[in-house]
Amino acid sequence: MKKTFAYNYSYDQWESWINEHNHPVYRAKQVMDWLYQKRVESFEKMSNLPKSLRSQLTESFELHPLKVITIQKSQDGTVKFLFGLADGHAIETVIMRHNYGISVCVTTQVGCRIGCTFCASTLGGLKRNLTAGEIVAQVIMAQKHLDVSNERVKSVVIMGSGEPFENYEETMKFIRIINHAHGLKIGQRHITVSTSGVVPNIYRFADEDWQVGLAISLHAPNQDLRSSLMPINRRFPLADLLDACWYYLRKSGRRLTFEYALIGGKNDQDEQAHELGKLLQGMNCLVNLIPVNFVPERNYTRTPRDQIFKFKRILDSYKVNTTIRREHGHDIDAACGQLRAKNSQLIQGE
Ligand code: SF4
Repeated sequence: MKKTFAYNYSYDQWESWINEHNHPVYRAKQVMDWLYQKRVESFEKMSNLPKSLRSQLTESFELHPLKVITIQKSQDGTVKFLFGLADGHAIETVIMRHNYGISVCVTTQVGCRIGCTFCASTLGGLKRNLTAGEIVAQVIMAQKHLDVSNERVKSVVIMGSGEPFENYEETMKFIRIINHAHGLKIGQRHITVSTSGVVPNIYRFADEDWQVGLAISLHAPNQDLRSSLMPINRRFPLADLLDACWYYLRKSGRRLTFEYALIGGKNDQDEQAHELGKLLQGMNCLVNLIPVNFVPERNYTRTPRDQIFKFKRILDSYKVNTTIRREHGHDIDAACGQLRAKNSQLIQGE
């Protein structure tokens, strides 16, 4: 019998399973506590559960953590993992340290089919979607790494490889599990999902009526330029994307983040900063300028430092809140997909 991955189960699923196996319902909380607070690696260690329940759990569920293929540690405290999945694929997860706490960036798909031209994750196309449990396990593994130094994951960003809104159901289930009072208890305001602009699912996400943050990978201020950088813009045009953003803003009352990767000579000129300022003027948003990491396969160059600051100043003049993202792990392969691409020879099945 094929075993179920334990981290795939939501609290409600644990309750039903415990019920079906004739144990009192409070055992569901105890199982979740062992999985998420104590983070044990075998059901046998769940010492306050009766032996019969431990055996049933061992027979039905798998509790293997992800296999660590490589760990890269940066001088700034960034840690990048390459994890092996049960079927031989590999995924990346990153721990980042900020002055407001530690965040983990998780991956939602093996590879990606969106095709953004500045991104290494999409080079081999999409292999498959991750299950909610495989996404949860990335946070568990990061937390286990931090347990050694008595540190805690404070926030989670769903910005690793893959397009979360093309794996919508599993991504939403993942959020519910890590947010749950018996799960990792990560507050909704400390979770952010980033999408390249899958418009119908932005509406769905807004209708979830929760406080989970949303970030949009924008990267260009007009239809033609955005389509040349992000092919998804032909499927979901910029004007429709902005309508969906306004809908989210009205529904959530939260601020929206726009990610803007600055690519030398492509989208980083004064003219584009003015266009972007006009486009976003009056919106409750934050523009996050990201000096693009060099992707050897694409040959994109970095924007000079002075121009990054000038771009920001122009946006400021339109009263558009703007930050320049501090780089994490510049001395390691920190751009999403870079580590996986570099280690592809280590990864079976790719
Ligand atoms: S930036 Fe994100 S959506 Fe675009 S190709 Fe890379 S992983 Fe996919």
